[in-house]
Amino acid sequence: MTTPQEVLKRIKDEKIQMIDLKFIDTPGTWQHLTVFHNQIDESSFTDGVPFDGSSIRGWKGIEESDMTMVLDPNTAWIDPFMKEPTLSIICSIKEPRTGEWYNRCPRVIAQKAIEYLASTGLGDTAFFGPEAEFFIFDDVRYDQTANEGYYHVDSLEGRWNTGRKESPNLGYKTRFKEGYFPVPPTDSFQDIRTEMLLTMAACGVPIEKQHHEVATGGQCELGFKFGKLIEAADWLMTYKYVIKNVARKYGKTVTFMPKPIFGDNGSGMHCHQSIWKGGQPLFAGDKYAGMSEMGLYYIGGILKHAPALLAITNPTTNSYKRLVPGYEAPVNLAYSQGNRSASVRIPLSGDNPKAKRLEFRCPDATSNPYLAFAAMLCAGIDGIKNKIHPGEPLDKNIYELSPEELAKIPSTPGSLELALEALENDHAFLTDTGVFSEDFIQNWIDYKLANEVKQMQLRPHPYEFFLYYDC
Ligand code: GLN
Ligand code: MG
Ligand code: MG
Ligand code: MG
Repeated sequence: MTTPQEVLKRIKDEKIQMIDLKFIDTPGTWQHLTVFHNQIDESSFTDGVPFDGSSIRGWKGIEESDMTMVLDPNTAWIDPFMKEPTLSIICSIKEPRTGEWYNRCPRVIAQKAIEYLASTGLGDTAFFGPEAEFFIFDDVRYDQTANEGYYHVDSLEGRWNTGRKESPNLGYKTRFKEGYFPVPPTDSFQDIRTEMLLTMAACGVPIEKQHHEVATGGQCELGFKFGKLIEAADWLMTYKYVIKNVARKYGKTVTFMPKPIFGDNGSGMHCHQSIWKGGQPLFAGDKYAGMSEMGLYYIGGILKHAPALLAITNPTTNSYKRLVPGYEAPVNLAYSQGNRSASVRIPLSGDNPKAKRLEFRCPDATSNPYLAFAAMLCAGIDGIKNKIHPGEPLDKNIYELSPEELAKIPSTPGSLELALEALENDHAFLTDTGVFSEDFIQNWIDYKLANEVKQMQLRPHPYEFFLYYDC
């Protein structure tokens, strides 16, 4: 833990010029305001620094726009992408008039989720370990008229089909689904990933590893240690920030969109999770796969509420193009030990009870990690409180089941619209806890329907030209 005084001393000692205040909007993007160092004092860590919140997506109207950003002293690191000495600090949002935490600030919602866990007496700490995959592409200018790529529906030879104009293929690209994980020169992203990982370490993220992923040239994953709910979400935001900015230095661009390439693996953000109390892990036990009864009930809650949960953990129209059979992404709402085609997996953890956890494989990195972690925790706690047993595990490759067997397993919603409908019908597990307000949920549904679902439906799709142009 770092105190405000320590941060203020550091600003002086290290001759920091600027303080970059970062906070997260509702859809999940970092926003920032940079202030001269003399603007920060002890009150910045309690009352906050004022700003106009009226133009932040999903927040206040213009008539009541004054807000403050309250600095979290534990999140300070020197921003490696800024020329002058700049200390980056992550903030949560307060309403200056009432002095209350703002109930639409995702980091505030995450804090409430932790307080809710403690209030149930079940545990005091929730750990999360997200694995966010992403693609690195050449930073060629996106040309909206270049839709020839979409016509290559049978492009099984490793050709791009994202509708982008690519620079020439320099002789070789990994075939679809064969990126995991030959050495260089097939993997041409080694140095860029190492630089990303080391830069992240300099920003306080406890790094572990990096590798190429399954999809053709450029799908990658970096690994960092699991952390407490808010800490892990902060690290995930730092992860995305560093990855995008290092890529930019190399003339590349990064996307976390779940399914940028038709016919190849998409990018997920599997989330490992467990609950602890008094330093003791609570998910290790003598039930299936070495789980405790509590751990199994947590899975039961996740699976029961999954259709609604996905409106938060998989919150874009593109998310549902990833959740289709055949690409290591989960489609069926089932659980299993080791089986990666189930949406909940219980990884092998040897004899170490501290490593006992579950992996929810549905989420993707278009989600806001503070909201996604808070919502998954609420679903899991609901499972524990109501003793929701997850049923029999599925220890077969789900992709190979017969249609009759498959029909018995519920599946993930087929679109964002269906997930939002599920959330409309099932959100007491989020709101009865006091973690999410009814106002937040309704605002989320309306925002997503109006700005994303409807907007996609209104536009002629390039694939429609392939299908219908010559009607
Ligand atoms: N990319 C896969 C997904 O969409 C996961 C691949 C893996 O990490 N095994 O979830
Ligand atoms: Mg991984
Ligand atoms: Mg992976
Ligand atoms: Mg995984």
